[in-house]
Formats: sequence, C-alpha cells, structure tokens
Amino acid sequence: MGWLSRLFQQQPKLDEAAMPRLSPHGGSKGRELVLDNWATSPEYLALLQRFSSIRDFETGVPDYWQPMFGVEPKKVVKAFIESGALVEAPLPDKVQFCNTVTQLKEMLAARGLKVTGKKAEQVERLIQADSKGMQNLYGDRLILRCSTEAKQAVDTWNQERTETLSRVADEVIAALRRQKFAEAIQVADSYKSQRLELPIHPGQEAMTIKSSRAPLAERAKELTRVFTMKPKILKGLSGEQWEGLYLNYAVWKLIGTSFPCKCMPGFSGLRSMDESTVTRMLNFYVGHMEDKARWKPLGIKKAKISCSNSGSCESCKALDGQVYSLNKLPELPYDDCTCALGCRCLYLPELDF
Ligand SMILES: [Zn+2]
Repeated sequence: MGWLSRLFQQQPKLDEAAMPRLSPHGGSKGRELVLDNWATSPEYLALLQRFSSIRDFETGVPDYWQPMFGVEPKKVVKAFIESGALVEAPLPDKVQFCNTVTQLKEMLAARGLKVTGKKAEQVERLIQADSKGMQNLYGDRLILRCSTEAKQAVDTWNQERTETLSRVADEVIAALRRQKFAEAIQVADSYKSQRLELPIHPGQEAMTIKSSRAPLAERAKELTRVFTMKPKILKGLSGEQWEGLYLNYAVWKLIGTSFPCKCMPGFSGLRSMDESTVTRMLNFYVGHMEDKARWKPLGIKKAKISCSNSGSCESCKALDGQVYSLNKLPELPYDDCTCALGCRCLYLPELDF
C-alpha cells in the first residue's frame, strides 16, 4: 500500500481495537485526533456518510466543515483511512469514477478496442486490455469508500435518525391535536437543538438573514391562527382534510419534514393538487399574508401581482402586472388558478418615492 505511506510519510500502524484511538500525524500541530467514538459521533458519521458511495479524497468533504471537527476535514479523512474505516476503492471503480463515458470511449478507441457498452463494461474492457496503463493512470488516485463496518454504522445511524424523526413527529402531532401549540413548538425546538446541523456553505450563509426567534407565546399564537385559515384556492376540502392539512403544514414548519402519511392519510388530492401542493398553497398563503402585514406599517399602499413563472395558467397570466391598493389585492394563491403545481403568483410592493 504505497499510497498510504506516501500520504503519512510513515508506515500505517493499525490498532488491534476495532475502533482505534489515533494519534496525530501528517503534521497536525499537537492537536490529537481522537476517533475512538466515531461510531456514536454524529459529526464523524456525517463525514463517513459522504463516502457511502465512492468519492475523491480531495473533494470528499467540504473544507467549510472544519468547525465541526476543529481540524481540517481532510485530516479527519486521513485518520479514518489509517483506522481502516475508509478504504481505497478497487481499480475498476477508480477508473469508472474518474472518467465520463466520452472519456472512456476515447481511451477505448485509442487502444483499438470496441467502444460500446455500459460504463462498467467499458472499464472492464480497458483494464483487461491495458491493466498496467490503467494502474499507472488511476492506481494512485485516492478514491475512497466506507469499509463494511463504517457503512454499517452509517446505515444504523440513518435508521436511528429516521426513527427519532418519526417519533418526534408523532409527539408534535399529538400535541397539535390537543391544541397544545406551545408544547408542540417546544418538542420540535428541543429535537432541533439536539440534531446535528451541518455547516452551511459560506456563500449561502452570507445570503441568509439570521432572524431572531420570536417568543414562544407569539409563535404559538401565530400557529394557532394558521389553524383557522381557509385560503380560497383550497375550497372543497372537507373538515377532516383541513385538519390534516394544518397538521402537515405545522409539522413541516416545526421540524422541517412533512409527514402526509401521518397527517393526511387517505388524501387523494384536491383537483390537480396532491398533498404536497396543498400544503405548499397554505404555506404561500401564510407568507402572502405576512408580506401584506409587514408592508402596511411601512406606508406601502399598493402592490403589483407578478406571475413571471413560465407555464402559469391563463387565470394567473391575466393577473400578471396588475397593480392594486393593498386592501383590494386579489387573494393569493389565486383561487381561479388551474396550475398543476398550484399558484405561484407573488405580491410585489409598489414603492412611491
Ligand atoms: Zn395558475
């Protein structure tokens, strides 16, 4: 395993323990990288999950994940290679990973070989005809995947996370059904504070406005209000269906995942709208109401309707560009809308200077 000693400039020393404790190497300055709890560490499992399918060492884990580990993610990856949790992919996988079909065809043609077939077949043909050449080209590329043990740990972790999420959803739904809105929010908040949040891309972070969270009582009041809303575009829902829709919306807002199977069992659609579309329509309605409420105190008196989305229905297109005073605005989502994805029209404030 020449690549490994090159990587660490020393012979790898594998611990006897199944989950070894690793000492620093590769120039990390005195900071010890302790991986012996990796199978129960969400941060390490999230890193390993990146290698559930094969990835390049160089690009396997984003550098902006550094705060999660306190050291460069690549150092953690190296430590996992040394411990055996990440392993080098076999040559055929490397060749397949490093090349597009077009590139494979070019290499096949250059060797006078048949160029047709699936990617795996093309690779096999290349290696059979020129194993030395392929080894020279790709043998040293550090392409990695999880070991069986690491893959299993990642799978178990994912299964546990799915189960936890489902259990939390049940708790939130139960509280909502009892009209305990504050309790539902607290259950969701406590779940979210314990859940691993991956660092977001610095560019994306710069685009996000961090809003301070409103007090619990206020959030509970807002949520309570949503449970009385009846956007016109959703007319035709039965009482039970409205209830299910409110639940589905609230669960999605509170924990970030919707559970139509739990909240709206048996819902077979409203006109052309499925459960995720009707939930989105309620969400849009809430958002449009919030926009209008925000604009009034700012002295904004008029708004224009914008429906620039391609593929909008005739009813929505007819509204596009129309200006109304705030209290005369047609309700959005527009109830005459027949778009399959629901109405995507927006209010845009008209600013007078
Ligand atoms: Zn429409």
